[in-house]
Amino acid sequence: MDASEREGLLAADRRHLWRPYTSSEDQQAIDPLVVVGGDGPYLITDRGERVLDGSGAWWCNNLGHGHPRLRRALVEQAETLMHCSMAGTLHEGAARLAEELAAVAPAGLTRVFYSDDGSTSVEVGLKMAYQYWQQNGRPERRRFLALPAAYHGDTFGAMSVGGVAAFHGVFSSLFFDVFRPPAPAPGEGFEAVVDALSEQLSRCGDEIAGVVVEPMIQGAGGMRVWSAELLRRLHTATREADTFLIADEVFTGFGRTGPMWASDHAGISPDILCSAKGLSGGVLPFAATLASERVFDGFRGGKERALMHGHTFFGNPLGAAVAREVLAIYRDEHILEHAALRAEELALGFADMARIPGVRRVRSLGMVAALDLGDEGYMADAGWRVQREARSRGVQLRPLGDTVYVVPPLNIEADALAHLLEVTRDSVNVALSGA
Ligand SMILES: *Cc1c(COP(=O)(O)O)cnc(C)c1O
Repeated sequence: MDASEREGLLAADRRHLWRPYTSSEDQQAIDPLVVVGGDGPYLITDRGERVLDGSGAWWCNNLGHGHPRLRRALVEQAETLMHCSMAGTLHEGAARLAEELAAVAPAGLTRVFYSDDGSTSVEVGLKMAYQYWQQNGRPERRRFLALPAAYHGDTFGAMSVGGVAAFHGVFSSLFFDVFRPPAPAPGEGFEAVVDALSEQLSRCGDEIAGVVVEPMIQGAGGMRVWSAELLRRLHTATREADTFLIADEVFTGFGRTGPMWASDHAGISPDILCSAKGLSGGVLPFAATLASERVFDGFRGGKERALMHGHTFFGNPLGAAVAREVLAIYRDEHILEHAALRAEELALGFADMARIPGVRRVRSLGMVAALDLGDEGYMADAGWRVQREARSRGVQLRPLGDTVYVVPPLNIEADALAHLLEVTRDSVNVALSGA
């Protein structure tokens, strides 16, 4: 791309594009990285620079950019069928993928409902739970319980169960009622949170449609890790109240935290599981909400008892073909085993940064590692300074305010990961010493 082509692109961006989570001033003032290609963990810019993508294309790029098998699966599917509705029609990918997902899902999750992205997979999960009770003799079960600092997506149902005021506070008068315990102080565990939820479940279980959680680690709320033991306790409390546990594994699924699902850390099976991001290898917008046979059975009977949900691109053949190939690659390339080795290096690399004065709360889980630079949260500035430093060293990071993290592809090679860690450490060092 020559200089005038580049200038033309940036002009179109400044004048006409509206980027996500970007103020109108920033839209016009901050030039984005112009990306012309991708290769494994690297983005390739218009100037031929290879930039290491430390946030994995916003946490979805589990197999790197341009995996040859995903390219091939997409092209082959495009040559036969790119889309058809699923209104009385079926195509191979939708049926086979459902079968294959059920085979790798936590036990008992045997039904698969497709949608387009993480937010919609959560909407579907909430609607499954809510409608189930409405039409199965417990209409007073209308309330959801959720964790503080939860993030479940940007649509209204997902925002209602979410709890990050910095993102969604402005819309809060439009949300439905959700019980959410107060947030623990930074660095404190989730014991009191799970106690409060369990107490609600035992006291007013008959009003509760479901409990929705990001198992083991909360992503956008600040990469907050909680324990398998507490997840198990919360699961047990939902069994005792006979209500649904909805696991939002949009971020944690597909091996991001170690095992295939974060629920596996606790050995639990939720009633409903939401999956997107890594489901399509981060290649296409594609999502699935998995449910137990019990949930599915609650929708038997007349037409009026059907789950009242369905998107135009439900089960899109391109997405389904790519997701099937993702599962095949996980099997053939032993992705989880490979990631387990890298996860140890990642944990060590971050643990080492705990020695930098000003760094707090270093944590890691599988192929996620994070640290905080203060207690100011999302609107803090320190993370952005780290981002600028990293960018000048050929690494793209996307901090959450004070929280600096990396979410690399699970199949990243050891040398690329070492480079990512080194640049992150240097950038944190420089950003803090300049503060
Ligand atoms: C990213 C994310 C979502 C939303 O997914 P989108 O594809 O951005 O709509 C929902 N839940 C969790 C836990 C996420 O990390």
